Amino acid sequence: MAELDTFREEVRTWLEANCPAAMRTPMGGDDDVCWGGRRFPWQSDDQKLWLQRMAAQGWTVPEWPREYGGAGLSRAQAKVLQQEMARLGCRIPLTSLGIIMLAPALFKFASEEQKREHLPKIARGEIRWCQGYSEPGAGSDLAGLQTTAVDRGDHFLVNGAKIWTSYANLADWIFCLVRTDPKAPKRDGISFLLFDMATPGVSTRPIKLISGASPFCQTFFDDVKVPRGNLVGELNKGWTVAKYLLQHERNMAASVGRGGGGRKQTLEELAKQALGEDNGRLADPVLRHRLARFQVREQAFSLTMQRVGDEMKAGADPGPASSLLKYYGAEVNKERHELRLELGGMDQLGWEGEVFDEGRAARSWLRSKANSIEGGTSEIQLNIIAKRVLGLPDA
Ligand SMILES: Cc1cc2nc3c(=O)[nH]c(=O)nc-3n(C[C@H](O)[C@H](O)[C@H](O)COP(=O)(O)OP(=O)(O)OC[C@H]3O[C@@H](n4cnc5c(N)ncnc54)[C@H](O)[C@@H]3O)c2cc1C
Repeated sequence: MAELDTFREEVRTWLEANCPAAMRTPMGGDDDVCWGGRRFPWQSDDQKLWLQRMAAQGWTVPEWPREYGGAGLSRAQAKVLQQEMARLGCRIPLTSLGIIMLAPALFKFASEEQKREHLPKIARGEIRWCQGYSEPGAGSDLAGLQTTAVDRGDHFLVNGAKIWTSYANLADWIFCLVRTDPKAPKRDGISFLLFDMATPGVSTRPIKLISGASPFCQTFFDDVKVPRGNLVGELNKGWTVAKYLLQHERNMAASVGRGGGGRKQTLEELAKQALGEDNGRLADPVLRHRLARFQVREQAFSLTMQRVGDEMKAGADPGPASSLLKYYGAEVNKERHELRLELGGMDQLGWEGEVFDEGRAARSWLRSKANSIEGGTSEIQLNIIAKRVLGLPDA
């Protein structure tokens, strides 16, 4: 305990000395999220400095072993770091599909050489990753994917197309599912490949969404040469890697909207401002009831996520229960945005202009609708829960 107190003192002193003032303010919007990578459009020198300093400490991935870019902290120490960052209002220095999705799969399935090559670059935010899973004919039925990789001895020749690849146009590398044995039953002929998006033959075309943003792309592979050493796990056994990664993706997706760095205005603040107070309580009893019910659900969900997070850090695999979290997390986040719109009224519908915060509320509301599609749709999660958690027979 005394050791942990000393550690807390050290962390506090370090953060106070090293976290730039601008990185202790709430995030203004998606542009403030730091994704790192070779082409990241840095918002400020402070944003870059904060990432560099945290990465040098190993604190972007505090519990990873030091040889892979972490700090080798215990679970208790990592919690102290998290608490002290929250106390000072420090922004999360790096958000990364590499950390949340790919790294758990690399730790479990990659060779030592692959771990040493990729994990430290992920930890330092040097390489930004994207996920090449979905195809026009393979979303929920992911194992039906058609992108091929032909074995040419020292390399694979990849041809095909992916869709809905988030930030493919900004990513440096892709983790990609490819078909390496077209004759095998569909789940047995898939392999898991890593490759550089700058390889000749890779191209991307951004897709514009209802919210006005273009966060994802169609991604094309035209005779892309991928070195054989970039195969993770065994040839034709990529489905096992893919499924394991998906469980981590679903846990991550479950936590949408719980991001750090604080929000500009909480739902409660917005409600007080919009509805006024009556004897210290929100004036509108119906919305007051809905807000309270939402806050209880959100709190219960947040505590469950924390518990599952602790279990995973202690070595437990997320398993099919990650589908429960993914499903419920999507519902909670959609309800949060519905409430924000209802509480704020017409003002929340503004689409452009400073007075409407450039349409942040309305655009985020529209974006939240995708929560029950990305990472596997809600219907698919309910199928998994029915079969693998509740043990119900096929319909
Ligand atoms: C914001 C966002 C980001 C994404 N990012 C990525 C990414 O980075 N990389 C990537 O590879 N993919 C990404 N995706 C794609 C995502 O994984 C797929 O959209 C998702 O798996 C659904 O596939 P689909 O769109 O082909 O829909 P379909 O599979 O065609 O489903 C259409 C509808 O049918 C329902 N349905 C299908 N099968 C069943 C069934 N067996 N039982 C009941 N209902 C069923 C679905 O629930 C859905 O409502 C992203 C999607 C979104 C929305």
